[in-house]
Amino acid sequence: MRTTARTTTHFRFFVADNELYRKLAERHGHYCPMSTLGVRLGEAALRQLVPLSPVDLALCYLAQTCAADGIRILFESSGFNNDLRIEPSGQHRLCCRSAAGKELSLQLSAEAMLLAAGYRELDEAGKLQRLELLRTASAERLITLHEGSFD
Ligand SMILES: [Zn+2]
Repeated sequence: MRTTARTTTHFRFFVADNELYRKLAERHGHYCPMSTLGVRLGEAALRQLVPLSPVDLALCYLAQTCAADGIRILFESSGFNNDLRIEPSGQHRLCCRSAAGKELSLQLSAEAMLLAAGYRELDEAGKLQRLELLRTASAERLITLHEGSFD
C-alpha cells in the first residue's frame, strides 16, 4: 500500500485505491461528500456526452458547493475543458450543452443529498463507509438525468 505525507484519515484511506480522488483532495483542500458527488455527476455526464468534442462543451452548475471542484477535476482528467460556470440557484444540478446542440442536465437525487447531509453526524468509521458508498453507489441511485434541459 502506498503511503502519503498527508495525515488525515480520509486521505490515507482513499489515496491507495483511487488516483482521481487523491487529486481531488489535493486540489480541493479536503475530501468530502459533496466533492465526491461532483465527481459522480461529472462521470455520469461524460457517459452521456462522449464522443462529443471536448472543446465544444459548456458546463454550468446551479449550486455553490464543494461539488464544483469534483466536477472540474473529473472533466479535466478526462481531457475535457473544466471551465465550469456557477449559477447558484439552490439546485444541485449540472447542465451540459454541446455546440452541436445536445443538452442534458444531471441532478443529485434526494437520497444522494441525504447521504451527504448525514455525513457530519457519523463517527470516523461511519464517515469512511459513507464516502466509499458515495464513490461506489450506482449512478442511478445518486443522479437523475434529464435530456434537453438547461434551465
Ligand atoms: Zn468539500
